[in-house]
Amino acid sequence: MYDAEGSFDGVPCPECGSDRTISWHFAEGFDELECRTCGYQSDAVAMAELERASGDVLKRDDEVEAPTPKRPLRA
Ligand SMILES: [Zn+2]
Repeated sequence: MYDAEGSFDGVPCPECGSDRTISWHFAEGFDELECRTCGYQSDAVAMAELERASGDVLKRDDEVEAPTPKRPLRA
């Protein structure tokens, strides 16, 4: 989930010039742009996704305990 509110402000995309963009107004006080035509995302939006993704990875790592192979040694 984004901690931001998206709105259609008609800001032209810097990549393809389309006005089918979403402006994300983050609670932290900055705005970012996402394009629905070419998929462009400004940095903060991409970082929010990265953060979420790495959070998933960390969660997964916590669940996996490194197995300690124990083999009975026989002389
Ligand atoms: Zn675009």
